[in-house]
Amino acid sequence: MRVGIIGAGLAGLAAAARLAASGHEVTVFEQGSSPGGKAATESGAGYRFDTGPSLLTMPEVFDELFAFAGRQREDYLSFLPLNEICRYFFADTSQLSAYHDQQSFSAELQRVLGESPAALERYLRYCGRLNRIAGELFMRNSLHEFSTYTKPRILKSVLQLGRLDLFRSMDQAHHAFFNDPRTIQLFNRYATYNGSSPFKVPATLNIIPAVEYLGGAYAVAGGIHALPCAIETLCRELGVMFKYRTPVRSIMTEEAGGGRRVIGLQTESEEFRADVVISNLDVIGTYRDLLRDTEAPLYKRYQKLEPSSSGMVFLLGIGESFPQLSHHNIFFSADYPAEFRALFEDLRCPDDPTVYVNVGCRSTPADAPEGKENWFVLLNAPRDAGQDWKAERARMRGAVLTRLSSALGREIEPLIEYESGFDPPDIEKNTGAAFGSLYGISSNTKLAAFLRHPNRSRRYKGLYLCGGSAHPGGGMPLAVLSGAIVAGLVTGAT
Ligand SMILES: Cc1cc2nc3c(=O)[nH]c(=O)nc-3n(C[C@H](O)[C@H](O)[C@H](O)COP(=O)(O)OP(=O)(O)OC[C@H]3O[C@@H](n4cnc5c(N)ncnc54)[C@H](O)[C@@H]3O)c2cc1C
Repeated sequence: MRVGIIGAGLAGLAAAARLAASGHEVTVFEQGSSPGGKAATESGAGYRFDTGPSLLTMPEVFDELFAFAGRQREDYLSFLPLNEICRYFFADTSQLSAYHDQQSFSAELQRVLGESPAALERYLRYCGRLNRIAGELFMRNSLHEFSTYTKPRILKSVLQLGRLDLFRSMDQAHHAFFNDPRTIQLFNRYATYNGSSPFKVPATLNIIPAVEYLGGAYAVAGGIHALPCAIETLCRELGVMFKYRTPVRSIMTEEAGGGRRVIGLQTESEEFRADVVISNLDVIGTYRDLLRDTEAPLYKRYQKLEPSSSGMVFLLGIGESFPQLSHHNIFFSADYPAEFRALFEDLRCPDDPTVYVNVGCRSTPADAPEGKENWFVLLNAPRDAGQDWKAERARMRGAVLTRLSSALGREIEPLIEYESGFDPPDIEKNTGAAFGSLYGISSNTKLAAFLRHPNRSRRYKGLYLCGGSAHPGGGMPLAVLSGAIVAGLVTGAT
């Protein structure tokens, strides 16, 4: 089969590798000049930054991709397991390290927050159970194909859906497990891993801490951008053709048996005929810009669904080293509910934001000059709704520098040797993510998991969708799994 893939994001790359390994003729069209989409990179003044994802989970998903093609991921790139997953700095100046090793983490929670080891054990057992029931069903299968529900393991999961803790919010569940508001804030943070609010998202999403604490968190040697580059290398070895700086202008379709089917895609310079077209771009952009079909029921549905939150990023080359920082660091706000009201209800950046600082050179020392550090600073930001982003950035820059200077006991501004960054509209412009949302639609409703766009289009025969805005959602491993689901559907293996 001749396959055209739009977008070299992680999902598009994963679908390309699997389909090429299955013997299909695959061409990837990418508007940018390198692979990775949101997992991009930027350099300047001797510093290098990953500009998108910084934390890798579910390494097995990437290993499976290479294994599918008969290769070993270790021959292409190294994952570095983190024992200290994240260092937390609370508003009251207390500090805590979250470890992969459960005993060490338990001891920290008891020492700093007075939580009993039994509470953490109970909680992680509960998260692990949610993951066992729902993980395979939601993450590794299309929810929209009859064949999914004929698999015995899936049927077992479906029969247990009542145990998915769908009716409490994540925050309510955490109140039932822990006593200290700081512990609750720490675990509530996992709702932001898919751009949602812990006060609205169903407790089912406590699958996320299971993935991180039980499965582990990883850095990538050479930085996260090395990951899409490695998958691209694999693709090329399998015969995939890449056309960079080649935006797709439309998906071509024709009438077929009372419906429509795709016949290829169009760029500025060519008409590319294909049996199958896979869109790795945002669902909204796929319908609005490439199919010009704003009457499609699923397009209309996506117009009504709440987008996930976005991010505001500051890339800072810091001319000094801060041993009090770990690889991943969170500086929490004092009032988490107010932060999420600002993000999802007022659609403005919170006055007192939670600040995430990733020090990439902890795992890739060459990314900063000796004795200096490359800080990737990320704030949760509302989706783009026409806010004055210049003003928001200036306000948030002040908030970030005040918070970090006070927590680290040192004026940060004079240490900045390199600075750049981006806002939600830039994320939309650079990657096509509608409203700059990082993870497609939010999971702030109970049914969100079922409302994401199916991986196979029913409206256009031969059209498939993968990536963070389609099923199963955003985040690197899920994007790669959506590519795997699509490849399985195309080859009839799913
Ligand atoms: C700041 C930030 C932090 C994040 N942190 C994490 C994290 O720590 N861990 C994690 O797992 N995930 C994280 N994520 C989310 C993760 O990056 C994404 O979910 C994942 O990379 C999305 O992959 P995707 O396949 O959906 O494609 P995308 O990365 O969205 O790529 C889509 C591609 O399509 C291309 N494209 C769009 N339109 C066209 C067109 N018309 N023609 C040709 N090409 C086109 C774009 O240029 C882009 O390359 C983060 C994201 C951001 C932005």
